[in-house]
Amino acid sequence: MRVPLIAGNWKMYKTAREAADTIRSLCGQVAEVTGVEVVVCPPFTALLSAIGAASGSRIAVGAQDCYWGKEGAFTGEVSVPMLADLGCRYVIVGHSERRQYFGETDASVDKKIGGVLAHGLTCIGCLGETLQERESGQTFAVLERQVRGGFARHITSPNLVIAYEPVWAIGTGKTATPAQAQEVHAFIRRLVKDVAGQEVASAIRILYGGSIKPDNIAALMAQPDVDGGLVGGASLDPGSFARIVAGAI
Ligand code: PEP
Repeated sequence: MRVPLIAGNWKMYKTAREAADTIRSLCGQVAEVTGVEVVVCPPFTALLSAIGAASGSRIAVGAQDCYWGKEGAFTGEVSVPMLADLGCRYVIVGHSERRQYFGETDASVDKKIGGVLAHGLTCIGCLGETLQERESGQTFAVLERQVRGGFARHITSPNLVIAYEPVWAIGTGKTATPAQAQEVHAFIRRLVKDVAGQEVASAIRILYGGSIKPDNIAALMAQPDVDGGLVGGASLDPGSFARIVAGAI
């Protein structure tokens, strides 16, 4: 059985104090909601206070990126063992904003996923097509390239979660319809089956991300191949994020 997962990506928002306050408020609102994993991913600078605020609650904390090596002369980078040492349990890798603005490629995604999994954390690996790619009929070819180039070597790991985030739906208010999400999720699951067999394909969780809101989560989650959500803007407010968590089950 695939346990639903709702993860909040706070991007470059919230100070350490704001993160702790948000998590304390969220803890109270999701305490009674069972059967769904809840994760928040603050900026690096707020991780420690977020982990402190989430301590003893059902909320886990994750990072938004990492470097694949353990340590070294890599100015500005943060390694997975450093994140694990803080108490992080999840890491987002390959978000489209990192691909678009910071030169992330399928090759770097492959290394980062490997680094996260090697240290026992859960990796939320992102992929998705741009509007131009969708409109020119390349969606499935792009996704296949991303899966084979960034994910395939790690696909049998139970700690790998795939997040399908159509770039045209991120922060735009344009959500993929439940049918569009299901079509792509089913395609990704078939690809996983092709790479690693039916058992792995049936077990792997595939999240949808892109303008999830409290009023569209239930219809997305009703799709057979949608196993949760990666939520940006609507995860910043604890009330709205708690309603998304509640709507996911
Ligand atoms: C995201 O940043 O991963 C995301 C899906 O953003 P939003 O929910 O704001 O579209």
